[in-house]
Amino acid sequence: MREYAQKLRGRFGAINAEQRRGIVEHGIFDSVDGTGSVRTEQLASDWRADELTAEEFQFDDPAAATERFMDWLERQHEAGVLDVIERNDNVYIRRALSDGDRWALTKLRQAGDQVARTVERVPPGGYQINVQADTARFAQPSFNVPLRASTVRLLFNRNYRLLEGVTADVEKEVQRVLSEGLVAGENPNTIARSLSGVLNGEAKNRSTLTARHEIMYAHNTSAKERFKSHGVADVVVLGSDPCPQCEPYVGETYPIDDLPQGGPPFHPQCVGTIAPAAGTFT
Ligand SMILES: [Zn+2]
Repeated sequence: MREYAQKLRGRFGAINAEQRRGIVEHGIFDSVDGTGSVRTEQLASDWRADELTAEEFQFDDPAAATERFMDWLERQHEAGVLDVIERNDNVYIRRALSDGDRWALTKLRQAGDQVARTVERVPPGGYQINVQADTARFAQPSFNVPLRASTVRLLFNRNYRLLEGVTADVEKEVQRVLSEGLVAGENPNTIARSLSGVLNGEAKNRSTLTARHEIMYAHNTSAKERFKSHGVADVVVLGSDPCPQCEPYVGETYPIDDLPQGGPPFHPQCVGTIAPAAGTFT
């Protein structure tokens, strides 16, 4: 779960380090003296943002400079952030799906389901999607997999769009901060610091929340499908130390197809899950 969020954070971190270097060290928005202090940042990333160079920017034309900076940022988002996952595949979601499936099988066995004992466990990251045939299978075709490929594709797609939404919002915010700073004639250090607030702060936080939520959502979707394929009609909502948003649901039993809000996660950072209701297999 952590790896996905960490990777996204690292990518935004690399973009931020490069913008700071470009603005402060290369003085791309500094036509006056360019004596910004040199900063070096350790990049906790397996990817490096493109270099920003002073020649591309002219301080006397803030609109053109902003536009070029935004072009640069968009390229970094494409190559760095969105590239963490593919539109039609997502290794982190795949892993969450198999984790959710294995978790569900454990819950089924604990609930006394004899069928669950005969099902082979899903290898981590084992989902291979056959897009043409609309089947979700593992590399070994003998595995009993309840997930439909269309469901898996939907999850991949949803994830990609959410991440696109994060980068689009970050771009809007960067554009606002940058143009306001340039128009106000702020010094490059100040502008770079404000941009850090967006790229290192908001962007990282939002991408972390998104990644965690999507992992949890995939995990629970997979578990739900597994339960349904074993004939589970009612489920109980689980959650330790529930927050006020989850509290009304935790410990309650619902029909599997009629869970409030479709079931947990109910909100960002929610760790609620579902399990077969008591008495399902007895
Ligand atoms: Zn909650």
